[in-house]
Amino acid sequence: MSNSRILPEFELLAPKTMSEAVDMAARYGDRATVLAGGTDVIIMLEKNAVKPEYVIALGEIPDLDYITYSKADGLTIGALATAYQLVQDKKVKKKYPALWQAAASLGSPQIRNAATIVGNILRASPSGDCCCAMLALGGSVVLESTSGRREVSIDDFFIDYGKIERREDEIAVELKLPPVEDASTSAFLRMTRMTFDLSKVSAAVSLQMSGKKCKAVRMAMGAVAPTAIRIKKAETMLEGVTITEKLLSDVAATVSRQVKPIDDVRSTADYRREVSGVLAKRVIKAACNV
Ligand SMILES: Cc1cc2nc3c(=O)[nH]c(=O)nc-3n(C[C@H](O)[C@H](O)[C@H](O)COP(=O)(O)OP(=O)(O)OC[C@H]3O[C@@H](n4cnc5c(N)ncnc54)[C@H](O)[C@@H]3O)c2cc1C
Repeated sequence: MSNSRILPEFELLAPKTMSEAVDMAARYGDRATVLAGGTDVIIMLEKNAVKPEYVIALGEIPDLDYITYSKADGLTIGALATAYQLVQDKKVKKKYPALWQAAASLGSPQIRNAATIVGNILRASPSGDCCCAMLALGGSVVLESTSGRREVSIDDFFIDYGKIERREDEIAVELKLPPVEDASTSAFLRMTRMTFDLSKVSAAVSLQMSGKKCKAVRMAMGAVAPTAIRIKKAETMLEGVTITEKLLSDVAATVSRQVKPIDDVRSTADYRREVSGVLAKRVIKAACNV
């Protein structure tokens, strides 16, 4: 794979409406790449990791950068809402701290200004911070094509490394996260070599608590498998019981056994396996404030 600052040639398409964009996606299929903030796409083009004939840039479609919350519908994040916007949103910080923390730790201020939350989910990197957080919070990706819209649960969205539940003729319009109850809490943590690096390991949890008892839980980890993954064995251990130090140590051991990390430039598999349990324990404590 060559790496150059010179981009390959492609035709840049700038639809003015979502309906124009999905027409283009239908017409060009796998010959086109969608571009939102471009912080992943430009790198992929530079590395020749993608060689599209067409790039469908969404930036000129108006009013796609919304972030809305209602008690009935929960959180909705438009395709052009950036990590910076999400971090500025007080409702997100209060009600969806795991996603807020993931967006706040994503890259540098310059990257957060351009990077969209939807782009992070659609890139589906195993170390994508919002992928891990959203998997713990639950929700869905809304995809549009010329035949209409469909909603895919985040649980079914990440299929394998670089493989997502999106057809080539579809464009992601928004993300939906369910409303949160008053007794709900969540957190996201990641380990990096330096602050701006991608995660070596990340963990996110969302819990519904009744005092110290956990009524419901979703837990996810990043950079320990080909995609961000739910840690269902840990969820089963936590659900319906009181959270104690002993339980958290058992959860940590289970997490380290369940993950299947690889060696790469950022870390070794052994290190990732070891610290994933520690991070799992810490993220639960961070969510419960203990
Ligand atoms: C220096 C640097 C640091 C970074 N640090 C981090 C980090 O700490 N944590 C982290 O998680 N990521 C990090 N990233 C990766 C990147 O910034 C994020 O993944 C970002 O959220 C991608 O959003 P974007 O809008 O730039 O997406 P783009 O680059 O525009 O697109 C990303 C992918 O999603 C697809 N896509 C985007 N929008 C749509 C849509 N609406 N419909 C269909 N497909 C779509 C594109 O085709 C592409 O495959 C970093 C990148 C750089 C360059």
